[in-house]
Amino acid sequence: MEFQSDSISVSSSTGLDDYNDSLIKVNFLDGSSENFHVAWLRDSCRCSQCVSSLTKDKKLNPADIDLKQLKPTEITNDGVTLKINWIDDLSSSNYHQSCYNLSWLQLFKGKFDGLSDYPADGIYGPEKIIHTIAWNVETIKPICEVRFSYDQLMTDESTLMNVLKGLLTYGIVFICDAPTEKETILTIARRIAYERTTGYGSTFDVVANPDPNAHFSYSSAPLELHTDLCYRERVPGIQLLHCIQSAVEGGDSVFADGLYCGQQLQLNEPHLFDILTKPVIFSFYDSQRSIWFRQKWPIIVTDETNTKTIKEVNLSYFSMRAPLLPANQMDTFFTAFRKLFNYTRSSCNRLTLKLREGEVAIFNNRRVFHGREGYPQNEQRFLQGCYMDLDEIQGLYEKLSTKSNH
Ligand SMILES: [Zn+2]
Repeated sequence: MEFQSDSISVSSSTGLDDYNDSLIKVNFLDGSSENFHVAWLRDSCRCSQCVSSLTKDKKLNPADIDLKQLKPTEITNDGVTLKINWIDDLSSSNYHQSCYNLSWLQLFKGKFDGLSDYPADGIYGPEKIIHTIAWNVETIKPICEVRFSYDQLMTDESTLMNVLKGLLTYGIVFICDAPTEKETILTIARRIAYERTTGYGSTFDVVANPDPNAHFSYSSAPLELHTDLCYRERVPGIQLLHCIQSAVEGGDSVFADGLYCGQQLQLNEPHLFDILTKPVIFSFYDSQRSIWFRQKWPIIVTDETNTKTIKEVNLSYFSMRAPLLPANQMDTFFTAFRKLFNYTRSSCNRLTLKLREGEVAIFNNRRVFHGREGYPQNEQRFLQGCYMDLDEIQGLYEKLSTKSNH
């Protein structure tokens, strides 16, 4: 096929597709349209020269796209596929053809504002989005009465899927009838993916330690609601707690939904909410290894959209250091933190339950707060825990749900 390098021939069965000012107007069958930038289109070419068909890795380096050279020479839109022939200097022939599925392109309609969420196209975002449900005690009680059996989790794929789905939706699930041997927690973690090793090792034991220098997590005292390891460069996304020995008296576990508490603050006190979305310092001295860890995170992490959807919550007064703010903002910060913390202390929001021996709580450590009630010092209470990465949960759920759809 012959074409002239400096003229654009446009043909379309669904309407005129314009090209000007680096934008190509693409008309969709439903009568709507979107302007796509040529650089985005060239960078999003899915041909085998540009993307590896097996790994989906990009082979085209966008640094090699020279906007002064890049030029569409022919654009066709048959209502199903948009084809663009390019003049570019990326290939030896100085010619490249890109084909885009219109139904894929349509998913990006209205998304080029720098604020929108990524579309559920299977590449930018999972095809099936799991919507989170924020909870208080009333909403979570009936949900968490459903315990997933350890044996079923280990052997049955649909149980595994339901565990992952529960975690993605509510941020917490409970397993029952697990063996009460140590390291069982690793068997569960490895059923899903793998454990995340930290300074505590691959697992950690939550037992009352008589050493007065031990961190107060390792005592029989009550423990306020918190998330773990906010001072690390990547806060673990998932925590598993396995009850090996339960206290007869006291020692109940407490959980609250940071998403719900954050949303309450956002709704009721938006002027206070904003200040908690600014980063603060979390720092921690690992006395066993004599190492400091320091990291800056917002207490409430929101996305960039106008609605400021809450993505994560980091709550750890043990390691949070007072922010450096002018006086009026200092007032706002401490008032806001107090308000947020009061939501976690309200009995309407606190799910309090005694983990029985063989029960395991799995929860999103960047969303769900955990703590415990105190217990008499002579009680023996032993929980073993470990951490995992949250994206392993999301990835495995996406794989299993895609598989079960086909
Ligand atoms: Zn290509």
